[in-house]
Amino acid sequence: MADGGSCSSHEYRSPHHSDRKKAMAELGNGKKQASPEEVHPRKAFGWAAKDKSGVLSPFAFSRRNTGADDVTIKILYCGICHSDLHTAKNEWSNAIYPMVPGHEIVGVVTEVGQNVQNFKVGEKVGVGCIVNSCLSCQNCNRDYENYCPRIILTYNSLDVDGTMTYGGYSNMVVVNQHFVIRFPENLPLDKGAPLLCAGITVYSPLKEHGLDVPGKHLGVVGLGGLGHVAVKFGKAFGMKVTVISTSLKKEKEAIERLGADAFLVSSNAEQMQAAMGTMDGIINTVSADHSIAPLAFLLKTHGKMIMVGAPEKPLQLPIFSLILGGKTLAGSCIGGIKATQEMIDFAAKNNITADIELIPISYLNEAMERLTKADVRYRFVIDIGNSLTEA
Ligand code: NAP
Ligand code: ZN
Repeated sequence: MADGGSCSSHEYRSPHHSDRKKAMAELGNGKKQASPEEVHPRKAFGWAAKDKSGVLSPFAFSRRNTGADDVTIKILYCGICHSDLHTAKNEWSNAIYPMVPGHEIVGVVTEVGQNVQNFKVGEKVGVGCIVNSCLSCQNCNRDYENYCPRIILTYNSLDVDGTMTYGGYSNMVVVNQHFVIRFPENLPLDKGAPLLCAGITVYSPLKEHGLDVPGKHLGVVGLGGLGHVAVKFGKAFGMKVTVISTSLKKEKEAIERLGADAFLVSSNAEQMQAAMGTMDGIINTVSADHSIAPLAFLLKTHGKMIMVGAPEKPLQLPIFSLILGGKTLAGSCIGGIKATQEMIDFAAKNNITADIELIPISYLNEAMERLTKADVRYRFVIDIGNSLTEA
């Protein structure tokens, strides 16, 4: 997966990852001695994880100057995705420290390169999980930069100049214009930030798999950052939406505030039995180990379950849960840039934003602890503009 994070769950085992490791080793061996200060003359600061404890602390680093095709952005808000947590704690075995996570970035343009026509200083923009790709392979040509073998993620990725990418838990970022998302005027910056990963990760597969059709029945497993926006997109598409959660704790909110039509507790055998064979599609956002067979049984014949959650360890797949009823199990990794802009515009038009808890950066480690326990309604967003100060 490319979500720096999440799609780094695709990415962490890809050949590209070993390329990165090799390049890092070469840098380390002195074969390619570009000092970060030479390549990146601009001072930046943020918070970084320094080891697999995942504990974050202030970190000074540097970024490149604005290139001809670059947009430089002062960061105002950054969402905290569970992928940031997986990656900071090296749960996907791909971490390179120090690591500045964050790929739900919203800010204001402060400088543009000479080739940049579509963005102007002062405009509000977003950056999601991808900051570069080859732009010429089969996937890029079909607007699937998210599946480009040479994808460069917003953080924890080796950039084209041989330095590491650093994410949005920081004061500023320099990004190639192709990967910058225009933020509509009426979309709130803080509540809109999580759409840049959580939003596109659920929107894209719903579209790709024909699960955006009025009257169809969608199951959303896991009511966290991704899950709660999946409910909102499902309802905006005119679908019937059922949440499948681990406890009753979120039931009232799911129905009354988020607009879900029904709520199931996955451990309640009676409820699960009664809902068998009723769903056209399921989007599974669970971040940890869980049983997928009982979920597959909720699908109608030929129903599809799309896996977007990326647990640390492999899941068990009792194959009869798919064979019976000819069901499909699919995976999906964020979405392309065109789809991300389309999703943001759709969200602005339909008043879809994330439900957030806005935090100062000083609360970051506590927020990570709470995210581990699914104790957030429903996305932490860091108020970078008002709370991040130089170390
Ligand atoms: P999150 O806010 O922590 O939500 C995950 C939800 O999963 C929790 O709120 C909880 O919902 C449920 N859950 C947690 N532990 C569980 C368990 N042991 N058994 C069953 N359900 C459990 O995380 P998120 O930011 O939405 O991300 C979810 C997952 O998607 C993460 O693994 C993340 O890395 C991945 N991701 C993938 C992509 C992609 O491109 N594929 C993009 C972004 C994120 P309830 O309280 O309702 O049970
Ligand atoms: Zn993410």
